[in-house]
Amino acid sequence: MQRITILGATGSIGVSTLDVLARHPDKYQVLALSAHARVEELAEQCAQFRPARAVVGSADAATRLSALLRARGLDHIQVEHGEAALCSIASSAEVDTVMAAIVGAAGLAPTLAAARAGKKILLANKEALVMSGQLFMDAVHQHGATLLPIDSEHNAIFQSLPQAYARQPGAAGVAKILLTASGGPFLNRAVETLEHVTPDEACKHPNWSMGRKISVDSATMMNKGLEVIEAHWLFGAPASLIEVVIHPQSVIHSMVSYVDGSVIAELGNPDMRTPIANALAFPERIESGVAQLDLTSIGTLQFYKPDFARFPCLALAFESLEAGGTAPALLNAANEVAVQAFLERRIGFRDIDRVIARVMHENAHHAASSIEAVMDCDARARAAAQAIVAGLAR
Ligand code: NAD
Ligand code: MG
Repeated sequence: MQRITILGATGSIGVSTLDVLARHPDKYQVLALSAHARVEELAEQCAQFRPARAVVGSADAATRLSALLRARGLDHIQVEHGEAALCSIASSAEVDTVMAAIVGAAGLAPTLAAARAGKKILLANKEALVMSGQLFMDAVHQHGATLLPIDSEHNAIFQSLPQAYARQPGAAGVAKILLTASGGPFLNRAVETLEHVTPDEACKHPNWSMGRKISVDSATMMNKGLEVIEAHWLFGAPASLIEVVIHPQSVIHSMVSYVDGSVIAELGNPDMRTPIANALAFPERIESGVAQLDLTSIGTLQFYKPDFARFPCLALAFESLEAGGTAPALLNAANEVAVQAFLERRIGFRDIDRVIARVMHENAHHAASSIEAVMDCDARARAAAQAIVAGLAR
């Protein structure tokens, strides 16, 4: 039995994870679940999966969850709240595997706690790795943790690399990592009209159903930018080795191109249960509930170069990776604030890249010498981004 904690159980990835786990009750046991505010959904999940512990975001949410659990006769489930409790369920001795599926910087502390406790980490929370890069990878290696990528592209790359890959592309004969991108909902929309798109239009992804923050990131292509940085850390690849290829069908989830001319890819229907099942069972295979790919019904696969003028966020992400240190943390924090402001209709869609560019160019980045230095940079970038948003919203 693999004993599992799911951080962010009520989100899109959390729900897909529970869907896969429910198919294999003989293999996996849910030890702890977390949610931020959606206590009703969490109570439902607790009733179905019977974890020992449940963690929410506030004392008020904990009170509400406790009442819901009591009404269902589930008062043996220990209800806690706050970051220390998240870190505890991520690092507890009873847990083997941690699904890191909290969105944004809020996931950093518990994901790092899982690394420091030497857990098997299924990493969906790309923002945590973007922020802390080398520090996170060092913690994984020092404490013997296992890091398996859930992001579909990175899971595809992971599957397309040799099994004993040691984060040295040259030694493995890797010529390029080809990161595919759907291009999101605005791939072909007239650029002038992007100023006025609504949050609902931005969240209407053509192929994937996801949380709202990552959906907006896909529309700006910041998601691909974050994924370039994620690939850099996961696979030890310099930016020059990572190429973004627009592939609107999202059937090829990414590829690795080798020096002998071979290209190895992972293909499948766009459904996150595939990478989740792959990482859960690795190196074995389990059923995920995803239908087998029918290539003849898809017919055509297309590929294009990305347009950096249409998607300035992608260029900003490459820029932050080249700058190094805490620059990706600045980028990530500014993006989180700008996306939230866009979703709340306080700024326009194109203001997102303007806010990020200003935060990056008006604030110094430093060496990412400690997690405290990264968190300090994150806080400064958030304050700077909030001030710019307030100016734009006026
Ligand atoms: P979501 O918004 O659907 O869910 C987010 C989860 O995090 C929820 O359970 C929520 O309760 C929790 N959460 C939110 N704010 C929190 C906070 N401040 N503290 C603690 N918990 C908090 O998001 P999602 O689409 O499931 O994405 C989760 C992560 O996975 C993101 O980092 C995203 O980039 C990554 N990811 C998602 C997909 C996808 O298909 N959805 C694909 C690849 C990677
Ligand atoms: Mg992805």
